[in-house]
Amino acid sequence: MSASGLPKTAAVLGPDGLQALIAALAARGMEVIGPVERDGAIVLDRIAGIADLPAGRTDRQEAGSYRLADRDDGALFGYAVGPQSWKRFLHRPVETLFRVRRIGQELAFEPPRETPPRTAFLGVRACELAAIAIQDRVLLGGAYVNTEYAARRAQTFLVAVNCGDPAATCFCTSHDTGPRAHSGYDVALTELLVDGRHEFLAEPGSDSGAALLAYLPTRPATAADWAAAAAVAARAAANMHRRMPSEGLKETLQAHPEHPRWEDVGQRCLACANCTMVCPTCFCTTIEDHSELDGLGAERVRRWDSCFAGDFSYVHGGAVRTQTRSRYRQWMTHKLAHWWDQYGTSGCVGCGRCIAWCPVGIDIAAEAAAFVESSKREEDAHGIA
Ligand code: SF4
Ligand code: SF4
Repeated sequence: MSASGLPKTAAVLGPDGLQALIAALAARGMEVIGPVERDGAIVLDRIAGIADLPAGRTDRQEAGSYRLADRDDGALFGYAVGPQSWKRFLHRPVETLFRVRRIGQELAFEPPRETPPRTAFLGVRACELAAIAIQDRVLLGGAYVNTEYAARRAQTFLVAVNCGDPAATCFCTSHDTGPRAHSGYDVALTELLVDGRHEFLAEPGSDSGAALLAYLPTRPATAADWAAAAAVAARAAANMHRRMPSEGLKETLQAHPEHPRWEDVGQRCLACANCTMVCPTCFCTTIEDHSELDGLGAERVRRWDSCFAGDFSYVHGGAVRTQTRSRYRQWMTHKLAHWWDQYGTSGCVGCGRCIAWCPVGIDIAAEAAAFVESSKREEDAHGIA
């Protein structure tokens, strides 16, 4: 039983039940954001019902490549992850912090922030729950709280959907962040396409999730439903072949800032920043002031920035990281090594977006593996224990 006394048992709903779930979230005053197909990709946007979902579509992803394709089972969540993550709704790409108007001899500061709408995210993958937990730690957990993120996060209801069909770029099993969601959601769904039936096993993860399920047309989950859901997760894990090395990775990266591999990857990297834009855990921003042409107003905005940008490391007198290799080294060592020291976790959840959306197909997992291998070879050659 949950704290509110509601039973925390799983239920099964069909497509009509999923439609009712979306309608119930909207009836509770929430904007429902979910996956939709647009311009050749599955992106995240407002949805009104299951007709908006990418039925019968899947994604084929490789290093530097993302394509949609048909599937023949009518799955509503039969894809892995698209270029966008939920970060864009919580830690927005551009955020106005305040506006100021000159009125006579006075300056009037306008409080920027409206109360954010209550929002439900439908279709959050397990790796994305892990990414949201990381951003919670970074943006809410320290001495300096990102108040805009905090306001949005407090208004968010999370409906996870366990992965059944990972992309070739996925490696959440390396980080133990998927393919099945274990915490951090209000409701978790597993899409079941068995014996001609199309249903969803729905597990509550919070009191509000349990309350929502109690309101919907469902049937109790049977042992066969649980077995089918377990088979979905097992199949997804078995189909994930990419691996991020873990043993010794942090220490190896931190011990070799001058390793020749950095020059190797620096020769291939375009410093385009795609990887940081699509990454669900990257959080760096910059502050800009914009003045109106009439001189009567201005606004201060915060926007996403990237450690690959030329002026990102600018301090008095110049930029610290002038070469692409040092920017890639900063990104990879921060994400996979220093993040452990700062936040007690890796900065990577294995979603694979940076691999698919890198225009030259640089693969962070392959780079990490190559780095560990070559460092080990060097140490062996020098007889370092
Ligand atoms: S580093 Fe790449 S694989 Fe890891 S979380 Fe970021 S985008 Fe996903
Ligand atoms: S690793 Fe790829 S996506 Fe990232 S900055 Fe370099 S070229 Fe762009």
